[in-house]
Amino acid sequence: MDDVIVVGAGPAGCMAAIIVARAGFRVRMFDRARFPRAKLCGDTINPGAYRTLARHLHADRILRNARPIDGMLLTGPGGIAVRGFYGSRERRQILGFAIERKAFDQRLLEAAVASGASLEDNCVIDEAVVEDAIVTGVRVRGTGTARTHRARLVIAADGRHSKIAFGMGLAKYALSPKRWAFGAYFIGVGSLSTRGEMHIRPDGYIGIAPLAGDVVNVCVVRELKNMFRAQRVNAESVINVAVRSDPILRERFSRARQVSEVTVLGPLAVDCRSVGYPGLLLAGDAAGFIDPMTGDGLRFAIRGGELAAEAALRELSTGIAACTRLQAVRAREFGPKWRMNRGLRALVASPRAVGAASRVAKQWNAPVRLLVRLAGDVNIAEHAQS
Ligand SMILES: Cc1cc2nc3c(=O)[nH]c(=O)nc-3n(C[C@H](O)[C@H](O)[C@H](O)COP(=O)(O)OP(=O)(O)OC[C@H]3O[C@@H](n4cnc5c(N)ncnc54)[C@H](O)[C@@H]3O)c2cc1C
Repeated sequence: MDDVIVVGAGPAGCMAAIIVARAGFRVRMFDRARFPRAKLCGDTINPGAYRTLARHLHADRILRNARPIDGMLLTGPGGIAVRGFYGSRERRQILGFAIERKAFDQRLLEAAVASGASLEDNCVIDEAVVEDAIVTGVRVRGTGTARTHRARLVIAADGRHSKIAFGMGLAKYALSPKRWAFGAYFIGVGSLSTRGEMHIRPDGYIGIAPLAGDVVNVCVVRELKNMFRAQRVNAESVINVAVRSDPILRERFSRARQVSEVTVLGPLAVDCRSVGYPGLLLAGDAAGFIDPMTGDGLRFAIRGGELAAEAALRELSTGIAACTRLQAVRAREFGPKWRMNRGLRALVASPRAVGAASRVAKQWNAPVRLLVRLAGDVNIAEHAQS
């Protein structure tokens, strides 16, 4: 029997697996995908995520060929544009990075396997096995017949629509908002800089990240009230209309060429009422997802994987269930940022609020520059450097 099963070999699962395997426990990771696999994301690693990663790994190796990002460009209706740096005037070296998730996640997975975790990919986990009110394993659907795999603990890091968290009634889609993301890669986009970009519009927002080799990640997020409508939407046209008709972006995309298919994901927001159950701990998006606008999902995933691993190590050594404590630790540490993110998510839902915020920012852009630093988890990066 393994000590820990990790469901999902994305950033949260890999980080948890690395820490638990390095402590000498037997860790088995399951993922439904065959790696390397693509993942719809804005592809930016903010400074706080980079620093959290660097506590455990040679982050520069994981991020080789990544493009350094020194801040964000935010634009809003009425032509408002504010550039914010992650670093202060004195400390410009605080950086984030942009890298395709396919490469980033593959390198994290290699680090997890090198740390001693074993991997079964191409295996869907259908549900947790619960016996006497304790999670004792998972149901695995691989290439052969379905089977049960047991361990002393299960860490579910299987993403936003976690079969484990949804199946156990711990998580569900938020009633509102019902936002969907459309993502694709382009080349030939004009006027790229060292910044990521967030273009907020009355009908949603467009994130742009410059990657290595002139490739650009474009994610468009729109509110679509129901799934039926989302399925009828022409994904290609959502992205192309968004960038080619936008007053600020259309000139820059006039010679651009789309070089990937469009990937669609949603609804995005997931509420989680509890990040565990006896024998089970949640990490990453499986433990809830607010909105991609702040570009900090990977920071939550990496740190969430770290916290789940610490909780698992405590439970393995003491035998005391760690899920309640994990819930409290996460609430204390993530709570203030979640509140900010929920506030921004609500603001962007209201065209009037977006218009008013744009008018204020035109006169006074210090709050927007502060927002860039807060969204980038710069405090964590600065703390690590001092
Ligand atoms: C449009 C968009 C843009 C974003 N942009 C950014 C950004 O620029 N920066 C940032 O920091 N964050 C961003 N995020 C958030 C970020 O992508 C996530 O927070 C991050 O991927 C979470 O990592 P994770 O390991 O929890 O989950 P994932 O990365 O989703 O990994 C989950 C893994 O579980 C596997 N899995 C799922 N179900 C099963 C199953 N039943 N059985 C077995 N395996 C399973 C999947 O194959 C996958 O490998 C964005 C999100 C969206 C939607």
